[in-house]
Amino acid sequence: MDSEQLREYGHQMVDFVADYYQNIENYPVLSQVEPGYLLKLLPDAAPNQPESLQSVLDDVQSKILPGVTHWQSPSFYAYYPANSSVAGFLGEILSAGINMVGFSWITSPAATELEMIVLDWLGKLLKLPQEFLSSGHGGGVIQGSASEAVLVVLLSARDKTLRMVGKSALGKLVVYGSDQTHSALQKACQIAGIHPENCRLLKTDSSTDYALSPEIVNEAISHDISIGLIPFFLCGNVGTTSSATVDPLYSLAKIAKSNGMWFHVDAAYAGSACICPEYRRYLDGVEEADSFNMNAHKWFLTNFDCSTLWVKDRNALIQSLSTNPEFLKNKASQANLVVDYKDWQIPLGRRFRSLKLWMVLRLYGVENIQNYLRNHIELARYFEVCVGQDPRFEIVAPRKFSLVCFRLLPPVDDNEAHGSNKLNQDLLEAVNSTGRVFITHTALSGMYILRLVVGAPLTERRHIYAAWKLLQDEACTLLCSPLQENGNLPKSPPPIGFFGNGSKAEPLPQK
Ligand SMILES: *Cc1c(COP(=O)(O)O)cnc(C)c1O
Repeated sequence: MDSEQLREYGHQMVDFVADYYQNIENYPVLSQVEPGYLLKLLPDAAPNQPESLQSVLDDVQSKILPGVTHWQSPSFYAYYPANSSVAGFLGEILSAGINMVGFSWITSPAATELEMIVLDWLGKLLKLPQEFLSSGHGGGVIQGSASEAVLVVLLSARDKTLRMVGKSALGKLVVYGSDQTHSALQKACQIAGIHPENCRLLKTDSSTDYALSPEIVNEAISHDISIGLIPFFLCGNVGTTSSATVDPLYSLAKIAKSNGMWFHVDAAYAGSACICPEYRRYLDGVEEADSFNMNAHKWFLTNFDCSTLWVKDRNALIQSLSTNPEFLKNKASQANLVVDYKDWQIPLGRRFRSLKLWMVLRLYGVENIQNYLRNHIELARYFEVCVGQDPRFEIVAPRKFSLVCFRLLPPVDDNEAHGSNKLNQDLLEAVNSTGRVFITHTALSGMYILRLVVGAPLTERRHIYAAWKLLQDEACTLLCSPLQENGNLPKSPPPIGFFGNGSKAEPLPQK
């Protein structure tokens, strides 16, 4: 490590990244390359002799960036966002610079202690109950992903139950969530050895806006108990992946408690918004949960990866995940004076990830972060108003945060479900292939639904408006041209930029 070289190359690299951000709107949001494109562009073996940074950067520009989908583009509306920020970026640089491996307290006391402190800070911002903070029997920990978070709590809950009922009962353990719960729960069940038939993804529908019904959970649990199975884990959602639905946490927690089950709350995306007092009500009931998870790397300005997990009983994690080999023994750990995060996660090694979250909180401050979140929600509301005023489209599920679920309606003489799904699939394909936006889809009640999530730090109102215009234009092309060719155009579509009678229409943005 030559620090003068680092200085020189580091400045060059920061300039490269800054230029990337400056020009990000010039790239197609969704990479348009074909599978295997890179194999044709790069040599088939590593170089024997060193090459210059400039030649690498040239290749990044000409060969790598075309194969990048630009998650930081202001016109990225797919999946859920993966925020990057100056503070988060600087935190990553610092973490890479220090490059310690903080599995035990002694391997870098600051890494463990800063993580505890910053997760207490964030826990207080979310108004999590005292039991989730590090001063009691619980505490927070940074995982790599929400999938790891649900896996470690599922393992803890499984082992806690097996300690009571005996290890041979593994095949009888049952997990509950809704059919809207992220597939991470199913994966966790596969890894944890839960019988594939004992992962109950209970049905939801539009009558509850796809939220899990406590009655259905109760019924399923009673039935399973009656046939000799052992319910032990319930997962509730605050912001599902398909439609950002919020499950009734209080009722679910009560059911879990009365059946001696672990209750986990997955708020991977929407948890961030709950630092705003006006959105905190969506977390009501989390007081009764055993664990809570939110991805700071989604919508909290913290560069990937940083998934924050809180538990009330840290011993449950430790009892499932700890090891104590001779080569890791040290005085502080043996005396039980410290937290060793290796016992709260799957891997041994861990990065200094709390630095970037700490820097985000310090360089921006809570008020700015709250306003950042509110602005995205406001932009989503703006998009929703646009969609709602065009009779060719419909809003499919009520919007709570910054996700809008919508679809293009089939022409009146074609109300067959298949036709409408194909139509929306074609619309998605059409808008994404322009490279001007990236939007993804989901399925709700068998309908093919388009999802537009506002959450990229660079997104402004003009981008939302442009996305809407593009959707309208492509919808026009899809709905009109074949009919026009047949010479039987049933009705003329509303003009582009149609805003109804203007009653509640927002003024068009000044371009
Ligand atoms: C994104 C998401 C996940 C999965 O997140 P990873 O961190 O990629 O594992 C799980 N649950 C919900 C609700 C999500 O939105």
